[in-house]
Amino acid sequence: MSPEPSTLPRISRLAPRSRARRLAGAAVACFLVAAWPAAAQESASTLVRAARLIDGKGAVAEPGAVLVEGDRIVAVGSDAQAADADRIVDLGDATLLPGLIDLHTHLTDEVGVHWEEVLVTTTPAEAALHGAANALTTLRAGFTTVRDMGPTWPYVDVALRDVIDAGVLPGPRMLVAGNYVSATGGAGDARQFSLYVDVPTVRNLADGVDQVRAAVRTNFKHGADFTKILATGAVLSQGLPPGAQQYSDAELAVAVEEAGRWGSFVASHAHGTEGIKASILAGVRTIDHGSMLDDEAVRMLAASSDTYYVPTLYVGVIVPRDGAALGVPEPQIRRSTEMMRHRGASFRRALDAGLTIGFATDAGVFEHGHNAREFAVRVEHGQSEMDAIVSATSVSAMIMGWDADVGAVEAGKYADLIAVPGNPLNDITLLERVAWVMKGGEVHKDNLGQAKRSSGSR
Ligand SMILES: [Zn+2]
Repeated sequence: MSPEPSTLPRISRLAPRSRARRLAGAAVACFLVAAWPAAAQESASTLVRAARLIDGKGAVAEPGAVLVEGDRIVAVGSDAQAADADRIVDLGDATLLPGLIDLHTHLTDEVGVHWEEVLVTTTPAEAALHGAANALTTLRAGFTTVRDMGPTWPYVDVALRDVIDAGVLPGPRMLVAGNYVSATGGAGDARQFSLYVDVPTVRNLADGVDQVRAAVRTNFKHGADFTKILATGAVLSQGLPPGAQQYSDAELAVAVEEAGRWGSFVASHAHGTEGIKASILAGVRTIDHGSMLDDEAVRMLAASSDTYYVPTLYVGVIVPRDGAALGVPEPQIRRSTEMMRHRGASFRRALDAGLTIGFATDAGVFEHGHNAREFAVRVEHGQSEMDAIVSATSVSAMIMGWDADVGAVEAGKYADLIAVPGNPLNDITLLERVAWVMKGGEVHKDNLGQAKRSSGSR
């Protein structure tokens, strides 16, 4: 199944909102120019050269050349080489790629603090500050776009997205979940404390179609880009086991209907087979985790032009191994170990069927910036290096509805580019050591010793 053109309305999160623009007003702008001098050179053109280029759609060019003007790519290949650029960045024996995309992050999560303890041990300010640091870490790891699957303190991700869009803080382009919609008990229910304790300012549970509808509306009202719903139990929670369907078919359907009214979509956290199938039938955009795909679920995904499988394999390797150090309680480590048996088999089933597969990690459960470790697990399960890269670039951009702007090295798209020394098609783990990062024409990391710069001539 080849990627279908997106049928989603464009979610214009790529332009700052008025509130964010106010934040970037006079005083802040002065600071910005000092901190990020590249932003001042917006009109100048830069030719970026490297030994090779992987375009994000399955093609390789040798050598690689990309001409950048302002925040966009204006030419690629011989057209770029022929241009009279103001500035040249020569990255030497490196591979240029589009900025990577992770469809499942938790940027505002502090690694080591279990989400079921967040409401009683931390503050929203803490989440926001950790989010700012994690956003920079993620960007410098080569992930220039993320779909963030939600904070525990609702809407902290909305604020983080807005300050990044306004240029106040460096970070990936973000599409955010706001306040995820969860049933009482199990996945997404952060109130894992005494019946007599409450956090009245946080309301993130919805039961029954009316409450689910209200929750989805409230979510969009407060600035979420899409709605995350927890269709099944979770690995990292108490209550309902991950294999069990948690939301009814009717509750899932009303969430999708309501998100559609807002011109958006639903991302479904779904481990168990029944919850996966119910989510596909409801018409969600993504099946996140998708741990227990059987043959029928794979056939349903293959037949659907709107629902995509977005597995998270590395988290299933790291939690059974390092769960205790990551603050995961023992019963939940056991859940993860149990689910690991299914995850690899489901992924291989999806590969064999030729499903379009998005790229995601669940970063935040493990260290932010380790997102690219997902690649090696995929390759171990039989995905080719090139297909894994295409999944993390153009395919994930299409799934987000952002393929006009990101996910490939093409004229007209944002100048979101990364480089690794050597060739990741020979060693996929090179993507774990991204050495150079450009987002929107601005360089955020440059560890390539051989990078040479000159002005005016080549
Ligand atoms: Zn998650």
